Amino acid sequence: MPVVYRCSRCGFPLYVFARVGQSSYGLPTPSEVIYMHGGRCPRCGKELKRPTIRSIRIDVDVASRVVQLLQTARRLHAPLTGVELHLSSLISGLRGTGEAEAVA
Ligand SMILES: [Zn+2]
Repeated sequence: MPVVYRCSRCGFPLYVFARVGQSSYGLPTPSEVIYMHGGRCPRCGKELKRPTIRSIRIDVDVASRVVQLLQTARRLHAPLTGVELHLSSLISGLRGTGEAEAVA
């Protein structure tokens, strides 16, 4: 699942993690992304802060695909029912946005 770190003021994409294997470092932490930009958004100059749990958004289509994968795993008798239920309840409470986003 793609992950995009965006500035909470102007929406500038601070870092885009398109897929696993994109780099040998993997998905950077919010603190690493903030450090990459010297603590300020390069577009608007806002001081960047670590995101809260409420500022993280997950795309409904992506989440739906995750649930479909988990349902397939369930049909194959993989013990993932708890995860599937958690994701289903998560989807019902989401607003559709872009990719998974963490707003700094
Ligand atoms: Zn900005």
